[in-house]
Amino acid sequence: MVDDRMPAIGRCYSCKRTFGYQPSTVMMIEVDPETGLLPGMSVTGRFRDPSPEVLARVVKQPVCQECVDRAKRFAQAREIRFETWHNPG
Ligand SMILES: [Zn+2]
Repeated sequence: MVDDRMPAIGRCYSCKRTFGYQPSTVMMIEVDPETGLLPGMSVTGRFRDPSPEVLARVVKQPVCQECVDRAKRFAQAREIRFETWHNPG
């Protein structure tokens, strides 16, 4: 059983920097390992509902706080909705 209070080390999905984080509080995003993109997002940046096959292979990747902050600023600037980003638990 994984203890969520134990610090973990992982690679930020966004900037690829290795960083330490608390699994219970870190921002995780779901990524399609086949494309390296968010499920449903194509390499051209188009977005459509992900297929069940895509959802079945999705993995969660941590994102460091700096990238979360940057993404939030970017989202506000572009008025992109943020529902695909979420915290587990
Ligand atoms: Zn980062």
